Amino acid sequence: MQIGFIGLGNMGAPMAANLVKAGHQVLGFDTAGVTVEGVTQVETASDAVAGADAVITMLPNGAILRAVADQVIPAMSKGAVLIDCSTVDVDSARAVADQTMGAGLLSVDAPVSGGIGGAAAGTLTFMAGGSEAAFAKAAPLFEIMGQKAVHCGEAGAGQAAKICNNMILGVTMIATCEAFALADKLGLDRQKMFDVVSTSSGYSWTMNAYCPAPGVGPQSPADNDYTPGFAAELMLKDLRLSQQAADSADADTPMGQVATSLYEQFVENEDGLGRDFSAMLPRFEKRGRE
Ligand code: NAD
Repeated sequence: MQIGFIGLGNMGAPMAANLVKAGHQVLGFDTAGVTVEGVTQVETASDAVAGADAVITMLPNGAILRAVADQVIPAMSKGAVLIDCSTVDVDSARAVADQTMGAGLLSVDAPVSGGIGGAAAGTLTFMAGGSEAAFAKAAPLFEIMGQKAVHCGEAGAGQAAKICNNMILGVTMIATCEAFALADKLGLDRQKMFDVVSTSSGYSWTMNAYCPAPGVGPQSPADNDYTPGFAAELMLKDLRLSQQAADSADADTPMGQVATSLYEQFVENEDGLGRDFSAMLPRFEKRGRE
């Protein structure tokens, strides 16, 4: 296939590189002028999409996605599919899908989980929203860039799945960190705490696979002085998206709300910016009951 790839950042660059390795021709555009080996760098977003069978976007947020969509949709070829892999608000995902389908093109929102490591290894999980035809056209590319793709439903369903998942992740990380901080104050050894919880009903991905306590459990950002990994500000972005969606759908999400305000405080007023989202543990460690 000929593929246009827009947004060659931490995630986009390794994803585009994997498409090249699989033998596809990739034309790439990034406003920061990033170059990726094997990807033909072009001057504008429209140049990247002209003649492409598939266009992939991997951008920071919904406003940028909408602006890029305005530029590229008129330049896309008949029958092509626009695959947005960014994490954005459900409303932007649906608006871009409407615009794409209105132009007679195929559209899939396909945010990912698996982080930079998954992007490099080609082991991302894609959660996709769009028509059967659009998903079928995108599926071979998901297979190259990832290990699993779930077709979640119509346009926006992929973003809905992503933010619900990440709301659970944010809440669970906080619960895991505050439990470790409580265990410390109760004089419980962290390794013992891990040994019990990781095989008991408190187990979770944040405890078992991404333990926030240094030197405990598998290797994680905690063992690297909380260098991300998944930065606290990205967690905050996703939690805010979850609360924006909850507002627009009139859903009651009290735990999501508390997690959002804790990460907000952490990123904006404490030392959370640029640290991994599991650095909530040293934050709780320092605090008392008040
Ligand atoms: P990033 O900031 O490294 O990359 C975004 C890229 O988009 C940058 O290189 C930037 O220059 C480029 N860009 C911005 N505006 C543009 C425009 N108008 N045209 C072309 N390029 C433009 O971010 P990232 O970590 O690669 O994340 C990308 C998306 O993936 C985000 O939506 C993020 O939430 C999501 N995500 C990230 C991770 C992760 O672990 N980093 C995991 C899952 C999902």
